[in-house]
Amino acid sequence: MPDSEKVLICPACGEEMNKIYIEEIQCLIDICLDGCGGLFFDNREYKKVYGNESAIDQIKAALEGKNFKPVEPSKRTCPACGMKMITNKTSLDGSVIIDDCYGCGGKFLDYGELDKIKAEFKSENEHSEDVMKYLKNKMGEEYTEIQAYKLTSDKNKKPNLLNNIINKFL
Ligand SMILES: [Zn+2]
Ligand SMILES: [Zn+2]
Repeated sequence: MPDSEKVLICPACGEEMNKIYIEEIQCLIDICLDGCGGLFFDNREYKKVYGNESAIDQIKAALEGKNFKPVEPSKRTCPACGMKMITNKTSLDGSVIIDDCYGCGGKFLDYGELDKIKAEFKSENEHSEDVMKYLKNKMGEEYTEIQAYKLTSDKNKKPNLLNNIINKFL
């Protein structure tokens, strides 16, 4: 039986996990619907889900309106391969903590952590968009400076962007 069809035991609360199929990324995601609301992804699934807002929304929809058992953060054992999992911070500010399995690459997310991951990649995207805008503006300005200098410079002077900038302030 392929791993994806095997019923997994939730590493946080011990209940049998359910599976939901996410069409868009063609993955069966393990989800602890009868226990704590935790999620288990294999490495391939996690990469597909991370950054895919609609896949995340589908997983969230499956979790919606349910009361889950609260669980304490604890040392967990990978439900797929049985190795001890390692607690890792995934985000730069350390707000998202997930359990990683270095044996099979699996990841376990507690209920609510998916939201944080969604927020994280959103801000990552926005951040890189900001950087691109900044660079575009900046390069646009410098390009304009060079063009302006070319138009006004006489042939005896070597084009020099710094001179041009200094001249503007004199
Ligand atoms: Zn659970
Ligand atoms: Zn594992």
